[in-house]
Amino acid sequence: MSVVVIKPKTNSKKETKEEIIYDAIIIGGGPAGLTAGIYLSRARMDTLLIEKAMPGGQAILTEIIENYPGFPHGITGPELMQNMEEQAVRFGLKIEYGEAVEFKIKEDKVKIIKINNQEYRTLTIVLASGAEASKLKVPGEGELRGRGVSYCATCDAPFFKDQKIVVIGGGDTAIEETLYLTKFIREATIVHRRDRLRATKILQERVFANKKINFAWDSVVTKILGSEKVEGILIQNKKTGKKKEIPCQGVFIFVGNVPNSKFLNELVKLDQKGYILTDGNMMTSQEGIFACGDVRKKILRQVVTACGEGATAAFAAQKYIEEFKGVSYK
Ligand code: NAP
Repeated sequence: MSVVVIKPKTNSKKETKEEIIYDAIIIGGGPAGLTAGIYLSRARMDTLLIEKAMPGGQAILTEIIENYPGFPHGITGPELMQNMEEQAVRFGLKIEYGEAVEFKIKEDKVKIIKINNQEYRTLTIVLASGAEASKLKVPGEGELRGRGVSYCATCDAPFFKDQKIVVIGGGDTAIEETLYLTKFIREATIVHRRDRLRATKILQERVFANKKINFAWDSVVTKILGSEKVEGILIQNKKTGKKKEIPCQGVFIFVGNVPNSKFLNELVKLDQKGYILTDGNMMTSQEGIFACGDVRKKILRQVVTACGEGATAAFAAQKYIEEFKGVSYK
């Protein structure tokens, strides 16, 4: 755990050496958080970004991003995210590693975030904690995780060279990741619970044209088989009720995402699935707390939308900070 960088402010009468108040603390270093960092730092707001693991979010696990404007031939996830981080740091964003575990809002509206064992004070918070892979919740999944069960093709594909794998899911992630996996594996079966894919049409065209990929339609996984490592899966056809075993060495699960919002513990209003509710300016139900990216309730989860929301959240936070200082410090 690193130490808070203390930068004295000139426009705050309240500030003492003991109590440093940031203008903004961003939680999460994916595309939304880093974009908010770029905008707040360029606005000369004293901003700290807190990241749990490594900046880049889910996008860093994507082999190629080909729908982010400005890159006609696509750009790798790691390269795009490293560029965003470099850009944010160049404008003065401070990045520290830690996990937010507790929030308090004082009567004077200053927010206190406990990150690991240290308290940080801030006028605004930008929540950009993203989402993570949903679990299938079938027998064998937890037991064989890391022993053939994976949630990341970019991370694990080389372990499955020339092997037979199955992919669960029919969305953009499942299809993109299967296409990537075919560079390594011998054969893939996509198991999907319906008879048509959810993924974007251009991805569907590619997956249907790929000879290494076949499909098990209308089917759900009932069990992942194996003791020491994955040996196969058991599926059931939803229409016929017929059960079938598919022998395989790897099971890649891409059945959607869950928002990383549990740690907020009722700080802001969430929908039933745990996504943060905001207004059009990315303001949450709590004054001075904004949210952007995959943790926010919305219809389109893309790097480009995360960046747009990060910029809006940062601008709205900046306006809030300026107003707050104007009222409180005159
Ligand atoms: P998603 O779009 O929610 O798709 C999840 C898939 O898993 C769906 O096909 C769904 O089936 C299936 N599924 C869900 N729960 C299941 C269960 N319990 N058992 C079996 N199958 C289940 O999730 P995603 O593909 O991870 O994508 C998340 C978001 O990121 C989307 O908005 C997507 O567009 C975006 N994304 C975009 C790109 C890109 O633009 N290149 C790449 C990756 C992701 P149903 O279809 O029957 O619901």
